[in-house]
Amino acid sequence: MGGDAAVVRGARICYQSTARTANADEKLIRRLISATPKHNTVFEHAVFRFGVKCPLFVARQWMRHRICTFNEKSLRYCIADREYYVPADRDAGRETYVAHMEASFDLYEELLSQGWPKEQARSVLGLGVYTEFIWTVNAWSLMNWIEKRVDRHAQAEHRAYAKVILDIYTNVMPITARAFREVIVAR
Ligand SMILES: Cc1cc2nc3c(=O)[nH]c(=O)nc-3n(C[C@H](O)[C@H](O)[C@H](O)COP(=O)(O)OP(=O)(O)OC[C@H]3O[C@@H](n4cnc5c(N)ncnc54)[C@H](O)[C@@H]3O)c2cc1C
Repeated sequence: MGGDAAVVRGARICYQSTARTANADEKLIRRLISATPKHNTVFEHAVFRFGVKCPLFVARQWMRHRICTFNEKSLRYCIADREYYVPADRDAGRETYVAHMEASFDLYEELLSQGWPKEQARSVLGLGVYTEFIWTVNAWSLMNWIEKRVDRHAQAEHRAYAKVILDIYTNVMPITARAFREVIVAR
């Protein structure tokens, strides 16, 4: 919502200026993103909303990011789908892992059939179970998330989401994303 144009509008109202050349807006955005101290609030006028499906352990890390809004599928009110993450790069122990996940779902469904409330029966499910949430985040906070989660220190599974979202970001806000990639991600 808003894109590069919203950033430019936010900045130009400060200076009461207009673009005089074809690439003036691009230069302005590049200056804003490189400036120290940063004129960061102009990037908050562009807003994204994502629908995310990921393992619970990725969601837990994701929700450590506070400057944004989440709403998540509730396993108090909904029955968990039998869907869980299986690491593609692991062979040894894979069968045991899958058997364990299947057994946990068997137990979960058994407890539900015995009248356990969903909110208690879910305790037997593991962190690899998929969850879904809606994430609304402004472009400044999104860049903070991308910077931290594409970093090599971030968990690979989380990094995979960050890389995809960086591509989406680049398609939607090409000017800001290009400056962000060159000035911040490449650092
Ligand atoms: C590789 C990696 C490993 C991590 N390991 C752990 C871990 O083991 N345990 C753990 O608990 N967390 C861990 N985290 C989470 C990390 O500590 C941050 O909570 C998370 O990355 C969110 O970053 P953030 O605060 O910049 O983002 P946001 O919460 O979105 O905040 C954005 C910015 O707003 C400002 N801000 C927000 N809230 C406050 C506040 N209360 N006071 C002052 N300024 C504020 C800060 O400038 C902050 O950078 C890890 C993160 C990474 C990337």
